[in-house]
Amino acid sequence: MLKKITLPAAMWLIFETIAVTLWLTKDNLFFLLNFTYIGTSLAAGILLFRLRYKHARRVAQFLVGAYMLIYLGILSRENMQIEGFWYYLFTGVFEAATIHYAVAKIFGPLVFGRGWCGFACWTAMILDLLPYKIPRNPRKKWGFLRYGTFALSLLFVGALFLAQVKDMQRVMFQAFLIGNGLYYLVGIILAVSLKDNRAFCKYICPVTVFLKPMSYFSLLRVKCDKSKCVSCGKCKKVCPMNVDMTDNSRKRENGTECILCYECAKACPKNAL
Ligand code: SF4
Ligand code: SF4
Ligand code: SF4
Repeated sequence: MLKKITLPAAMWLIFETIAVTLWLTKDNLFFLLNFTYIGTSLAAGILLFRLRYKHARRVAQFLVGAYMLIYLGILSRENMQIEGFWYYLFTGVFEAATIHYAVAKIFGPLVFGRGWCGFACWTAMILDLLPYKIPRNPRKKWGFLRYGTFALSLLFVGALFLAQVKDMQRVMFQAFLIGNGLYYLVGIILAVSLKDNRAFCKYICPVTVFLKPMSYFSLLRVKCDKSKCVSCGKCKKVCPMNVDMTDNSRKRENGTECILCYECAKACPKNAL
């Protein structure tokens, strides 16, 4: 049992440290509540997973994703998308989106890789409901597209500043609503046409420009115990991100795509992962 609670407890402690540090340094109780909620939701998801509850990851995904989309994004009008990150960065404000990006998408991946993508993202929260959990076709070489969407988001916010648009907060809120709508639309069309729920994550999502290089160094990663592995290939068949998790090197095929969903570990008949 102790082994089962170590990882969720460590995750909870990391988030609680962030919560208390931001609460005290920024003198704002919101940070304590916000990061305690997120840390507790993630820890609960990981614990349920370790207790072998089938939908554990989805529980965390909905607890965090729905909170961020509905409460922070729509009700509190914080643009938590990449354009919100650029906006707060250009205004020099270390709040909302900049903190979110620092924790979940820039520095956090050094510890928990792309755990955000597996356990918290509100875009994937919907895309994962589609029926193509295991990609039906070989991966395409379309990853370059993400640099286009990344550049577009930067150009969009840069243009707003250059044009000295009034009431930027309102414009950013509208951008959040329209941007999310577009993400869902494009994500669903791609998933259905390529028969791959995570096609949007693989080719379009601009956030992966941060996530991929940082998660290369991730402390938390799936490893293969070669002494147990019988090379049956079942793990690779179920991976939604086409990762070669049987290769333990950092340069494994699509290694920076791993979303830590642990479908491979569930499928392994030898408990080698
Ligand atoms: S790649 Fe982008 S859309 Fe996909 S889960 Fe990660 S952050 Fe969300
Ligand atoms: S199936 Fe395994 S290798 Fe593939 S994304 Fe999930 S955890 Fe990573
Ligand atoms: S499923 Fe397990 S035994 Fe089979 S190839 Fe993968 S790690 Fe090896």
